[in-house]
Amino acid sequence: MTPGQLALELKEKSRQLGFILAGITSPEPPSHFDVYQRWLLADRHAGMAYLADQRAIERRADPRVILPECRSILVLGIPYQKPSGLNPGDSSGTCRVAAYASGADYHLVLPERLKALVVFLEEQSGHSIPNRWYTDTGPVLERDLAMRAGLGWIGKNTCLINPGKGSYFLLAEILLGIELPFDESFVTDQCGSCTRCMDACPTGCILPDRTLDARRCISYLTIENKAEIPFDLRHQTGNWVFGCDICQMVCPWNIRFAQMEGDPAFMPRPGVWDHGIRHLSSSQKSWGDESLFAELSLSAAEFNRKYKDSPIKRAKRRGYLRNVAIAIGNSARSELLPALEVVQNDDEPLVREHVQWAIEKIKKIRGIVSEKPHG
Ligand code: SF4
Ligand code: SF4
Repeated sequence: MTPGQLALELKEKSRQLGFILAGITSPEPPSHFDVYQRWLLADRHAGMAYLADQRAIERRADPRVILPECRSILVLGIPYQKPSGLNPGDSSGTCRVAAYASGADYHLVLPERLKALVVFLEEQSGHSIPNRWYTDTGPVLERDLAMRAGLGWIGKNTCLINPGKGSYFLLAEILLGIELPFDESFVTDQCGSCTRCMDACPTGCILPDRTLDARRCISYLTIENKAEIPFDLRHQTGNWVFGCDICQMVCPWNIRFAQMEGDPAFMPRPGVWDHGIRHLSSSQKSWGDESLFAELSLSAAEFNRKYKDSPIKRAKRRGYLRNVAIAIGNSARSELLPALEVVQNDDEPLVREHVQWAIEKIKKIRGIVSEKPHG
């Protein structure tokens, strides 16, 4: 089989495994590495110190540092379900998680499929092939590689956007010790004069060089951030309790082209953030075992059990409850005070502080006077 035929077979196999995008690029250093370095130097990676680790930087600078035998890189995209609701501003009475987080954790789903692709390639070529695969966690600039593999362009919102499919997909890549023909890079910037994502971002953290200031991004603050959410950003966090999709929801390429259904593995699971949205009002039928009362009452063991296969486990119970408390505080709904009081004396100082903030915010907005202790 010629390298060209092998590449075609590999892409067909990728499609059979659910990857709607597949392209092949060279192992050359990524062209946006200097932008990445400037981003690190400006401290915009917030608390993600592992990104500034010297070894990680060297690996991101050149994929062949990771795999010296690397001759080509297969870059893949797999879709998750489009978020419910077209208008991210229409948030009254709900809290929500990023769309990718209402299904299974992709770190658990994708490795098997990536391994299957390597096995397929080895069977087709008749010999073993040095390889290394990653799904988001690896020291590679994956959007840069995806652009070079022809999958789309890096939008102003920093997401990889495909002109026919939008940006609701996860990227994965396999470094391969075999020469395969490279696809043409995606060279056009199809954002044009649009600035909708920048205008809609509640914290204004999207920068002109197509990077984010993670220190102000709700996705960072509610997931990777293990500490307090800064006071000046709590209001902007709005109703997001894990991640944020606003800069993707407003993107015309998603409004026009994103498909509704994602891969079945990432479909929202019953009881675990169905469709990524939960209603806050007690009149909603979702106000039952899956209510915010139940969420705030989760012990560490219950949280670990409930979110074992979900991306949400990354926030850990204390980070998740911190986020839920802020979303409730921002809702200003006094009927949710009893839910907050459940964890007012939680063992975790992080939870206690944010719950107290939320209680005080609701009382202030609703004009509820706190009872003063007697004596
Ligand atoms: S994820 Fe949210 S906070 Fe972060 S850049 Fe996008 S809109 Fe802004
Ligand atoms: S909203 Fe507009 S500027 Fe932002 S990524 Fe989409 S097309 Fe580009």
